Amino acid sequence: MSRFWSKATLRCEPYVPGEQLNQPGIIKLNTNENPYPPSPAVVRAIEQEATNSLNLYPSPTAGQLKKRIADLHGLKKEQVFVGNGSDEVLAFSFMAFFDQDKTIRFPDISYSFYPVYARLFNIPFETVPLQADFTIPKEAFFQSQGGVIFPNPNAPTSIYLELGSIEEIAAQNPNQVVIIDEAYIDFASDSAVRLVQDYENILVIQTMSKSKSLAGLRVGYALGNEDLISGLTRIKDSFNSYTLDRLAIAGAEAAFQATDYYADMTEKVKTTREWTISAMNQRGFTVLPSQTNFIFTTHETIPAEELYERLKVSGILIRYFNKPRIENYVRITIGTDEEMQQLFHQLDQII
Ligand code: PMP
Repeated sequence: MSRFWSKATLRCEPYVPGEQLNQPGIIKLNTNENPYPPSPAVVRAIEQEATNSLNLYPSPTAGQLKKRIADLHGLKKEQVFVGNGSDEVLAFSFMAFFDQDKTIRFPDISYSFYPVYARLFNIPFETVPLQADFTIPKEAFFQSQGGVIFPNPNAPTSIYLELGSIEEIAAQNPNQVVIIDEAYIDFASDSAVRLVQDYENILVIQTMSKSKSLAGLRVGYALGNEDLISGLTRIKDSFNSYTLDRLAIAGAEAAFQATDYYADMTEKVKTTREWTISAMNQRGFTVLPSQTNFIFTTHETIPAEELYERLKVSGILIRYFNKPRIENYVRITIGTDEEMQQLFHQLDQII
């Protein structure tokens, strides 16, 4: 510990992202990236922007990108906030909507960044245990003191919560913000975005990292009523004058226009997910019902850590969790068909 550190520095318990072993030949199924490249139109737009304009500051507001996102969701530009990945949008949301004297709620098990932000910003929190089948108990989120946040579908469980339940949670927290982290929503059924017109306390956060294959570009965004969005903008403008860099704005705008390309790719991932689940079941794995680009699964005999270690030796990275209740589960990202076949080839030697 350094004598120069502030109290905030001491409060940090930094999040550790998944291993990034980018050696050739490694099959990376550990951080829920998309195995397919972004649309070629995205790469062209980024190249063009790099060639023509990198000496100039970007638009401070990224207004054109916000307009495009708003149009796609039938919203106004003033209902859209953009940031450097949804992690940043989440951090700004904690600062903008959660107070240091009111306890917020999120599920246990859920995205492990939530307690990290709560500690950093000194926001008290309580965790709500998931039900025996790993679904979210909606009633436990009614009448929170300081607000609510959870992913839908949840991570790492991959389970989707119906919009009716989200409406009830919003209705039962009329004076608090209910944040729905929709990082994986394009692999699921319905987005809560269509609730934001009716519920002024719902903030939906989405990302281009998963279904748009742009984890490296760092673009996330929030959708909600204008009042919530201006709260986020106030925080952001007190922190950084610019919203996104030029390459991110250019790439994101192009991605939102390549709708057919991304619809095909998302279908492909979902098809691979379905046959992967059957193939896992045939090998004695129990797989939770996934509406994401990953599966959460446990084997009847092989411990999760052993599975992780043995796959790693053969060049396949997956993730296991050292947490009560899920210590024997692994999370496996859906890769290409060929990558999943490789996974089964290795699993058949292990099981
Ligand atoms: N929310 C959830 C539930 C996630 O799993 C992730 C990805 N790790 C994120 C947010 C952050 O995604 P990004 O910052 O890449 O947009």
